[in-house]
Amino acid sequence: MLKLLIEPYCELCGRELAYSELETGICENCINEIKFLDLDNSCVKCSLPEVGENCPYCRDLSFVFERNFSLFDYKGSIKNIFFEIKFNQSKEKTKVFHRLLEKLDIEEIIGMKIDLIVPVPSSPLVYFKRGFNLVNEMFKPISSKWGIEFLEVLGRKFFYKSQKKLSKSERAKEIAKQFFVRKKVDLSNKVALIVDDVFTTGNTINTCATLLRSLGVLKVYSLTLFRANLI
Ligand SMILES: [Zn+2]
Ligand SMILES: [Zn+2]
Repeated sequence: MLKLLIEPYCELCGRELAYSELETGICENCINEIKFLDLDNSCVKCSLPEVGENCPYCRDLSFVFERNFSLFDYKGSIKNIFFEIKFNQSKEKTKVFHRLLEKLDIEEIIGMKIDLIVPVPSSPLVYFKRGFNLVNEMFKPISSKWGIEFLEVLGRKFFYKSQKKLSKSERAKEIAKQFFVRKKVDLSNKVALIVDDVFTTGNTINTCATLLRSLGVLKVYSLTLFRANLI
């Protein structure tokens, strides 16, 4: 709090902050200027921006989930805000994302009634280091705003191999081993939305989707803040 009292100016534009803006350090104007990606121009499978129907990443891939929706460009001020949260533990800045996400009619975007929102579980090690669960912090308040159940049904192992030296297919297998079902619940005929911060290869979402399907889930969609492009 002390830091905020000393710096009552918007980190992005330098304007003096209103009392309600002090917590995030970013003014309402700057939040409103952050644009959502145009989903009509993004890949209809992996949400890679501006590729339309000819996606260089996933045209030869098949996923267990129906479609991923990524909301923001992985650059500029919104990426910087995200990095502040991810690497500088600025938990209060998740409120910037809440302000943006609460404007969305999620079921209209997905085109389907969503029964439950399932977060990608974070590694317990990362959780201890960071002090909070980033994905839950981002999406739990929003799920309740949207009136959709937030179900932490998946878990992630404490230890797993570093993937740096692995080939693509070995990597997918290693990722598959990291996750497990925490609670054996019957999710027959439900439509689930997996939520995560960044969609990169799709391996994580695919693994989580496979586990959800094993619980009876009918259709799995995915919502991520960003789509990282490794091409
Ligand atoms: Zn500003
Ligand atoms: Zn794609």
